[in-house]
Amino acid sequence: MNVIDTEAAEKGREYARTYYRSHREHCRDKDKKWWAENRTEYNEVRRERGLEYRRGVKLDLLKHYSSGTMECAICGFSDIKALSIDHMNGGGAAHRREVGQGINFYRWLRKHGYPEGYQVLCMNCQWVKRYDRNGYRYLGVGEGSTTTQGN
Ligand SMILES: [Zn+2]
Repeated sequence: MNVIDTEAAEKGREYARTYYRSHREHCRDKDKKWWAENRTEYNEVRRERGLEYRRGVKLDLLKHYSSGTMECAICGFSDIKALSIDHMNGGGAAHRREVGQGINFYRWLRKHGYPEGYQVLCMNCQWVKRYDRNGYRYLGVGEGSTTTQGN
């Protein structure tokens, strides 16, 4: 459902102008009612715009850290839904705890002028890299620890 039905709005515009002048209080109540009924959808639209913003930030970063290829540095996978920014020398989990995850991490990178030491990896290669780095602990079958630690 559209919040604004343009055809109906057009028809009612002339009438509304004169009506509003003589029914100010009533109109304000109606306004309140509109908000009560449409707040959810309105916020939904705002949320969508937020998503677009976050996508834009992520695209900028992927472009930068893949030198424009928009591909995983290891296998060449190119579906951006599964691409992420990888800390080449590890320390990612600790860093994310510090600056936040997702958009906060991406914004941090942008704010700090795209620092060195990061690359684009697909989630598959992220996990393989993490596994290689940490060994069997991730499967819970290694010696001693069964905890999952970040890279
Ligand atoms: Zn990959």
